Amino acid sequence: MEITTRSCVVSGKEDVSVIQQNVIWNNQETLVEIVRGGICGSDLHYYQEGKVGNFQVKQPMILGHEVIGRVVATDSPDLQKGQRVAINPSRPCGQCKYCLNHEENQCTTMRFFGSAMYFPHVDGGFTQYKVVDTAQCVPYAEHADDKIVAFAEPLAVAIHAAHQAGDLEGKRVFISGVGPIGCLIAAAVRTLGAAEVVCADISERSRQLAQEMGATQTVDAKNGDFTAWEEEKGYFDIAFEVSGNAASVQRCIAVTRARGVLVQVGMGGNIPDFPLMNIIAKELVLKGSFRFTTEFSTAVNWLSNNTINPLPLLSAEYPFTDLENALKFAGDKTRAAKVQLVF
Ligand SMILES: [Zn+2]
Ligand SMILES: [Zn+2]
Repeated sequence: MEITTRSCVVSGKEDVSVIQQNVIWNNQETLVEIVRGGICGSDLHYYQEGKVGNFQVKQPMILGHEVIGRVVATDSPDLQKGQRVAINPSRPCGQCKYCLNHEENQCTTMRFFGSAMYFPHVDGGFTQYKVVDTAQCVPYAEHADDKIVAFAEPLAVAIHAAHQAGDLEGKRVFISGVGPIGCLIAAAVRTLGAAEVVCADISERSRQLAQEMGATQTVDAKNGDFTAWEEEKGYFDIAFEVSGNAASVQRCIAVTRARGVLVQVGMGGNIPDFPLMNIIAKELVLKGSFRFTTEFSTAVNWLSNNTINPLPLLSAEYPFTDLENALKFAGDKTRAAKVQLVF
């Protein structure tokens, strides 16, 4: 089967277009009609800077990894035509030592939607039709709201980060940086039993959203008073650093109790004068968190059965043909949290 489709393509710095291309389905996978997709920080970096970290755009690439759709054709007996599916953007190889150990997010040849990590790049999901591995399709209930289920990927990132912290029941949690991921971490840790969730951000709007998403208290990261939380070697059992900002990392170390856990989610550059001595002396556990594994299915479940309502984070919806304006609005952090494209 061959279908002509239009896709949102980035070619380098601030260079985007909607182009026409052909999609061929060979009866070995699943052909999906994309209905909706969220714009992520990495999509914005590709648009604004032509790169994410050191993944540079070297050829035109279709953006997007937070997409949901409808099955058009499939070889799988478990899926039906018309079935609604959230698409897991991860395609691990299934054969490397990490894949064989169920640590697929560490796959040495991961093919992740809309990523310039490898050359040729892996195209993303901002396209009308896409052929995916059947295993990437996670069906969801007919009654579920597409707007909500389209949060599956960022929620999976948040749940994976929460799992890195260990048992959350009754714990005191600090979250530094509450953009969409920080807010979803607040919702996830509350769902997993955290007793207290204090969220810090420089933006009042972000703090407001964190409150709506489950924070028990918010604090101004710039002008707030943290001294009480720093006493006795720190107050919080667990801190999530979600901004990648050097001052924020230092703050997380200061407010986490001795022998507590610090989960690093925000991707910053190198941090000079990293306070290693405080990690040693307080015997902190420092954990990185990157993407997700089985948490994608958990996220689809939580969203389709209303365990978490992410809609306070949805700032705007744009038709996919208006990609440029959608990216511009999404890049304005004073106004936008999550922006979705509608296909
Ligand atoms: Zn994302
Ligand atoms: Zn692998």
